[in-house]
Amino acid sequence: MSFDEQSVTSSAPAGPTLLSRRAVLFPDATDDQWNDWRWQMRNAVRDGGRLAQLMSLTLAERAGLEETATIFRLGISPYYLSLVDPDHPLCPVRMQAVPVKDEARIRKGELKDPLGEDPKRPVEAIVHKYPDRVLFLALDTCSVYCRHCTRRRITKGGEAELNKAELEKGIEYVRTHPQVRDVLLSGGDPLLLSDERLEQILTPLRAIPHVEMIRIGTRIPVCLPMRVTESLAKLLRRHAPLFVVTHFNHPKEITPEARRACELLVDNGVPVENQAVLMRRLNSDARIITELNHECLKMRVRPYYLHQMDVAEGLEHLRTPIAAGVHIIEQMRGWTSGLAVPHLAVDLPGGGGKVTVQPDYVVERRPTETIFRNYRGESYAYPEPEETDCTCPYDEVWRARPGR
Ligand code: SF4
Repeated sequence: MSFDEQSVTSSAPAGPTLLSRRAVLFPDATDDQWNDWRWQMRNAVRDGGRLAQLMSLTLAERAGLEETATIFRLGISPYYLSLVDPDHPLCPVRMQAVPVKDEARIRKGELKDPLGEDPKRPVEAIVHKYPDRVLFLALDTCSVYCRHCTRRRITKGGEAELNKAELEKGIEYVRTHPQVRDVLLSGGDPLLLSDERLEQILTPLRAIPHVEMIRIGTRIPVCLPMRVTESLAKLLRRHAPLFVVTHFNHPKEITPEARRACELLVDNGVPVENQAVLMRRLNSDARIITELNHECLKMRVRPYYLHQMDVAEGLEHLRTPIAAGVHIIEQMRGWTSGLAVPHLAVDLPGGGGKVTVQPDYVVERRPTETIFRNYRGESYAYPEPEETDCTCPYDEVWRARPGR
């Protein structure tokens, strides 16, 4: 721990302070205001001066606010700010919301467009990188600007012109590309759109016969759970099959409000999945990821990916070695429910696409058997069958069925 970190951690214990953070930070907010997502957005903290009035900042944070001011937006909803531990600079919520000096440092090899999306944008709102699915950029704003955002070239504002005409071009692109069976609505955060605007995007997309499913990538359940209303949940359900893919990174983010938002979606028939990002010193520990995923499952959110941090500009300080992620998976597989064990995914720099990595349990491959080690390190042999023809003759019949 640096001197700077130490100086801040020496103040009051976190527990009681955290319980009263809303009252301390926004004493005049009524319950109706607090639970109104538009009030939350109007009162989001958007500059360093205001943030400094609300909490004491470390030297690294003060420098970060100053040096990243022209690099990436600052924006923290009052709700998310109330989860910040004012007494510890390595609070996982704080690390995701408040910039530090390191964020302004761009290292050799870091990329502005780490996933190679820009060359694959046939129209402003569409990234078409994989054969059967597209990313649909619906807007460039968010309820909280995550300090680990790797799409900040878009969410910093001003680069992607996502107006009504461009969104219509995006819908037209999907309509004229019959290979697209899966549309991932993202941005920015699409659930910041009003119900009416969302409907205007989802209705024409859903009417396209070859679009089999829609996904919405959003941090709303994490950062602005009051946006999830009964009417929003019902709207999303009307466009089923539609999956909400959210982004909890630490169990601290799973509050009663977040739980209510996720359960409201699930109760209304909208499946919710979680994709976490592995971040050094924030959640880079098997105990944290295990607790996070257990808490997700308890609110019927399915843990899906654990993402290795992309090689994006200014994020070296949050990147973990690949081995750290593999070690986390190894400490989970077998020790807890398979549903709680995420896929560790690396999105290859430059647009190579996702690959998954996992511990190697194969000890030896022999012609007649494979020797594995199990999660306890014990050896087991799996015998190979004598017959090895894996073709499926009925498949020809199935594919030729009438109406297909
Ligand atoms: S919500 Fe998503 S797009 Fe927006 S800043 Fe966070 S990571 Fe980036």
